[in-house]
Amino acid sequence: AKDAGRGVFHAYEPALHVQAEERRVLEVALRGALEKGEMHLNYQPVVDAGTGVLKGFEALVRWNSPDFGSVSPVKFIPLAEEARLIAPIGEWVLRTACDEAARWPSEVRIAVNVSADQLQNPGFVAVVASALASSGLPAGRLELEVTESVFMHEGLGATKTLERILDLGVRLSLDDFGTGYSSLGYLSRTRFSSIKIDRSFVQGASKGVKEAIAIIRAVVALAQSLGMATTAEGVETEAEHEMVQELGCTKVQGYYFGRPLPVTEARELAIRSWGA
Ligand code: C2E
Ligand code: CA
Ligand code: CA
Ligand code: CA
Repeated sequence: AKDAGRGVFHAYEPALHVQAEERRVLEVALRGALEKGEMHLNYQPVVDAGTGVLKGFEALVRWNSPDFGSVSPVKFIPLAEEARLIAPIGEWVLRTACDEAARWPSEVRIAVNVSADQLQNPGFVAVVASALASSGLPAGRLELEVTESVFMHEGLGATKTLERILDLGVRLSLDDFGTGYSSLGYLSRTRFSSIKIDRSFVQGASKGVKEAIAIIRAVVALAQSLGMATTAEGVETEAEHEMVQELGCTKVQGYYFGRPLPVTEARELAIRSWGA
């Protein structure tokens, strides 16, 4: 497309160039972020929908860059995936979360997000085993959150890796359910403990969107029949809590119950809820 539409390309080139340049600079910064200690984890409460009792926390990574300020994981996780930095970042998140959770009351679980790329690495199972061993966290208190995209690209590679993770005694939950891949076959192949219903459905349902309500109902029924829990994500109001509870969701997470917390506050909440 060198000759064709030269003028058109010219018009868009500067913007594209700036974007590529910004990404490159961000990537360089990201490469050094871990060793410079610029990353930390926040922990968002996950509570029982009926009783409001604290069940666990989801670890959410944060990057405070001296040059770029606070960069959202929505931006830097995809960048880390493309720049092949997700393995070291993901391993650091997992080890840090396990180390921390090992100091919480034993009733409180920790959920860690795992990107599809991490599961492509056959060494990942050993990393999980090592994070458990070195932290002393019992496997049953660790839950790995994976999205449907894990099942998208290859055949059964991811399924086999997940099987070996389950063999360790670690739980799996299916994150952002309904936003990605649209086949349900993998649900019968992989033993998930819970399905997380994306915030977009919770929001839609609370605005009275019939389709969103129907989808939540269907997911809850599906999960129940497969013996899985359902977590409604992004619950921001009392009305939304009541709604998802009536729809049968078993766990809830969202600003209404708590924002992602710094580690010391998360531990204090855990101890207030369950005792030291
Ligand atoms: P996610 O796994 O779906 O995480 C939930 C996101 O929703 C978090 O955003 C959380 O702060 C936000 N959230 C929770 N409750 C509410 C609410 O009531 N209202 C609203 N508006 N938002 C709420 P965050 O921390 O910015 O993370 C965004 C995404 O980045 C995550 O989505 C996840 O896909 C990814 N991510 C975060 N940490 C990690 C990590 O350690 N590893 C990987 N692979 N991905 C991560
Ligand atoms: Ca998640
Ligand atoms: Ca989610
Ligand atoms: Ca989400």
